[in-house]
Amino acid sequence: MFFEDKFVVGLTGGIGSGKSSVSKEFENLAIDVIDADVIAREVVLPGTPALSQISSYFGNDVLNEDGSLNRAILRQRVFNNDVEKEWLNALLHPAIRQRMAIAIKDTTSPYCILAVPLLIENNLTSLVNRVLVVDCPETLQIQRASRRDGSNASLIKSIINSQVPRETRLSVADDIIVNDGSLAEIPRLVNELHIKYLQLAKN
Ligand code: ADP
Repeated sequence: MFFEDKFVVGLTGGIGSGKSSVSKEFENLAIDVIDADVIAREVVLPGTPALSQISSYFGNDVLNEDGSLNRAILRQRVFNNDVEKEWLNALLHPAIRQRMAIAIKDTTSPYCILAVPLLIENNLTSLVNRVLVVDCPETLQIQRASRRDGSNASLIKSIINSQVPRETRLSVADDIIVNDGSLAEIPRLVNELHIKYLQLAKN
């Protein structure tokens, strides 16, 4: 495994499945949670090598006036352009991976959670000792995510379709949180896994 003295649980799931809600519960148990979305924003902050390469490649149109990355414009630029998308991924993925590795080394809790929406899509399972999938039926994903984001169901559906199919995700899971009940059930489900992970991390 990648990190000899760390026990890393990869937390993943489709949009609206309840990853953030589950992450928060692990944090409540004083477990270090590394959030891939936060890291993905950090690697392109003003002053980073990645951001200067992006602005050289795409031009200053992808920058806001204050020099920060305009993510919406960049997303539009790569949306229908596989060459540009691949270029961007080849730049960002190693930078994100490297920062994740540093963040994992810096953790101090008995085990840590690496929360990555696209853990499977981006082949990051080699970074983790176990894969925890948060799962619920697609109808619930659509309901929850559209309410949360104030976006329409068809946008959420297209995001679901861009992610790995539910069966594929479940097939690589070591543990599954079935989040099809009420929010109030999450603490108990997380606590059961917490006890298991503490034990596994010890061995
Ligand atoms: P993800 O991080 O996987 O996209 P979230 O944890 O943000 O999903 O959950 C999506 C939305 O659904 C949030 O507003 C959250 O509060 C809500 N939610 C999550 N789990 C449940 C549940 N079991 N019952 C009702 N609402 C839920």
